[in-house]
Amino acid sequence: MYSTMQDVPLTVARILQHGSTIHGRSTVTTWTEDGPVVRTFAEIGARAAQLAHALREEFGVAQGEAVGTLMWNNTEHQEAYLAIPSMGAVLHTLNLRLPAHQLAYIVKHAADRVVIVNGSVLPLLAAVLPQLADTVRHIVVAGPYDPAALAGFGGTVHDYETLIAGRPTDYPWQTDIDEKQAAALCYTSGTTGDPKGVVYSHRSIYLHSMQIIAASSFGLTARDTVLPVVPMFHVNAWGIPHAAFMTGASLLMPDRFLQPKPLATMIDRIKPTFGAAVPTIWTGLLDELDAGDYDTSTLETVVIGGSACPPSLMKAFEERHGIRVIHAWGMTETSPLGTVAHPPAGVTGEDEWVYRVTQGVFPASVQARLIGPGGEAMPHDGVAEGELEVRGPWIAAAYFGGANAEAERPEDKFSPDGWLRTGDVGTITADGYLTLTDRAKDVIKSGGEWISSVALENILMAHPEVAEAAVVAVPDEKWGERPLATVVLRPGATAGLPELRAFLAERVASWQLPERWALIESVPKTSVGKFDKKVIRADYAAERLD
Ligand code: ADP
Repeated sequence: MYSTMQDVPLTVARILQHGSTIHGRSTVTTWTEDGPVVRTFAEIGARAAQLAHALREEFGVAQGEAVGTLMWNNTEHQEAYLAIPSMGAVLHTLNLRLPAHQLAYIVKHAADRVVIVNGSVLPLLAAVLPQLADTVRHIVVAGPYDPAALAGFGGTVHDYETLIAGRPTDYPWQTDIDEKQAAALCYTSGTTGDPKGVVYSHRSIYLHSMQIIAASSFGLTARDTVLPVVPMFHVNAWGIPHAAFMTGASLLMPDRFLQPKPLATMIDRIKPTFGAAVPTIWTGLLDELDAGDYDTSTLETVVIGGSACPPSLMKAFEERHGIRVIHAWGMTETSPLGTVAHPPAGVTGEDEWVYRVTQGVFPASVQARLIGPGGEAMPHDGVAEGELEVRGPWIAAAYFGGANAEAERPEDKFSPDGWLRTGDVGTITADGYLTLTDRAKDVIKSGGEWISSVALENILMAHPEVAEAAVVAVPDEKWGERPLATVVLRPGATAGLPELRAFLAERVASWQLPERWALIESVPKTSVGKFDKKVIRADYAAERLD
């Protein structure tokens, strides 16, 4: 028996139409040098239509063609986010912190003929244009820029506002295309080898957006204002731009002002209710809030993910500023929402922490399993460790092979039965709570035992004088690998390495205690603000305590 339900495709165009009409009064505020700039969702819908007309009529952007954006989180990026997929093309977000050779690689690989770029990052694009003479033909610049930066470019250059001005403010949005068609393309930050492209479908974005807004995930409504510090070039800013138009939550876009002081100021002035960023951003912001006199009373919740959130950071936000931290896990290949750590029914008060410091539980749409070293499925008993594999309607099944090539399914990333191999190692409890002990490539394999770098980091970061700590594996003749602890002290700290070592010694088994230590100025970060363990390994491998 078949259902008698209508078969209506789930498309980004529907999200755009819904947001710009039903939630037309909600707003996107972009933080700029000259103060906040506010536009309503209705205005953004109209401007998205103008942009779509320009892309089609001026540049002939075709169905399924990738259009690049090299932009901060701001209103124009939101317009491109909605316009490009809704006209049937593919939004390709370019990570503006990638090294030049990788930026050139992904523009070429996706065959971006048109790139929309913020004037403030134009030099990054200009630097790689000589390698892209056969690829990029049209550049649209949003915001002030220096035209001299593009001297020698053989294609056309347009100012965003001039380009869209006077065009029709409605567009025949493609609400009825095949929901499995590509809507957006995002490359992993490629810490090893070339970046890999993940292609999101209309359907996957739509379903993921519904999950994001659910009370069991971020719980967004039209009464919220969300501050996505997580960049729109990194896994769709965790789905927030789409979720906002689906639910009417207003947005506060930080543009390039991602330092603690402007972030604290914009929270004080624009009064967001909800924020999302990686732990390193929140660590910096916490110090600023502790030191300054900011009103953060509206900010009820922040989501921390992208790397393990130290429990000490969660508690500090809650105890000192009344801001509830929700821990979440995901990756580019998972759209990104995998798990969210809310406590289960009936658990309250201090008992909640047992659950909230984990990575959390999967939603109904995402299945998870743990695979042991011999390929066997491990029990979900909170003890047995294995590599996490996941499956679901917004989980990647392959990587983009290039404009005219087959998709790629490398064996180390996809199981023969189609599950995504996450490369993350951890446990799952009987009631579904995931705890990641490490990335497979970061776990320290010492004499047949595994040491979790994350566990050591979390303890060190709970020391009141430690700002950040990153632990990596270094080669060791006797044990194969041993941990190296690198530590950034808070300003004015008096603790020395022997004291930190003693602090750790009281809390871990003696064989887990690092012999090698280094005090450092700051932890090197990847293009998306995570600890760059590859660089730490290379830079500090020779350090010892004594
Ligand atoms: P990259 O691989 O370049 O860091 P991703 O954003 O796709 O790009 O990274 C996903 C990875 O980040 C996950 O596989 C996991 O290792 C890590 N990660 C994300 N969220 C968490 C979390 N809450 N706790 C621990 N690790 C996390």
